[in-house]
Amino acid sequence: MLEIKHTLCPSCSVGCGINVVSQDGDVVGTYSYKRHQINEGKNCLNGRNSIEIYKNKLEVSDIEKIIDEVSNELKSNDANKITVVCSGNNSVEEAEMIKNFAELNNFNIAFYADNFVNLNDDIASYDEIENASKVIVIGDVVYENPLIGRKIVHAKKNGANIFSYAPEKTVTANVSDEIADSIESLINKLDDDSVVVYSKIESSDDLEKIVEAIANSNCKSLPVFSKCNSKGVSKIIDAKSKEDMIELLDNTDVLLIFNDDLVAEIDYDYKSISKIITFVPCSNSTSDISTIVVPIKTWLETDGSYVNAMGLSQSFENVVESENLSEIEIIEKIQNKL
Ligand code: SF4
Repeated sequence: MLEIKHTLCPSCSVGCGINVVSQDGDVVGTYSYKRHQINEGKNCLNGRNSIEIYKNKLEVSDIEKIIDEVSNELKSNDANKITVVCSGNNSVEEAEMIKNFAELNNFNIAFYADNFVNLNDDIASYDEIENASKVIVIGDVVYENPLIGRKIVHAKKNGANIFSYAPEKTVTANVSDEIADSIESLINKLDDDSVVVYSKIESSDDLEKIVEAIANSNCKSLPVFSKCNSKGVSKIIDAKSKEDMIELLDNTDVLLIFNDDLVAEIDYDYKSISKIITFVPCSNSTSDISTIVVPIKTWLETDGSYVNAMGLSQSFENVVESENLSEIEIIEKIQNKL
């Protein structure tokens, strides 16, 4: 039997709805979710490919044995040398559970969100981008977050000037009226009427300059995260800069990573950490170097809520049934053994 169920796209922080098509319980494709308030039926390629997470999910062999191994590692190491890393791929409910678990056991807790820290709460809505007279874009937002890119293109059609700081030949550069050669020259263009849209800022210095310039000019801004619930998790756990993450990793013997690919995001000598324990739905660069890999349910098999880039909380329900354990169930089982 063919079934279509609504859910949320897990592939970036825009918060688009997506329909998932299953046949006799097996996921076979995606389909436009016409009435969704964010994307009104459009999904980018990344969004449509999100079902690959489910299709490539890890096989679960003996989860009870894996849970025993994890709890034995945690019991045999100093709590202050154990670090728990939460991710923007986790739902609000999972992030709360992960934080409680770390605090209850006196483990260090960390959350990394594209090097974004101490962000202002005065964020622009997607409609405010579309209606702005000047849009300042940092990063290749139009390519990486196409549903926000669509708002930027609409703003241009409405007469807005688009200024960007994005490498040449990017899609964002293509739709810009002017490409700045430095962050400084871009932020000089800020005024009250501007809306700043920015993603992935590599340098903490650049981020500081941008945040300060936004505050001084009283304009609205929208940080766009690479993960679906970074905004929601940042309300629960303070995000760390790349430098602070590295300092914490330097003091870590056992690293627990929940649904993240830290190896792909932070350049570090991970071999210096004695044990890496990764909780993931499918393989990634971090699970490839981990001592223990704990398979968790994919997003299509769980319920929960995400908060999108502009702060809208949206809940989702499981699309397919699964016998596997969720992160929350696995953490409960580990905690019972400590
Ligand atoms: S823009 Fe982001 S949330 Fe929307 S469909 Fe694409 S990846 Fe998913």
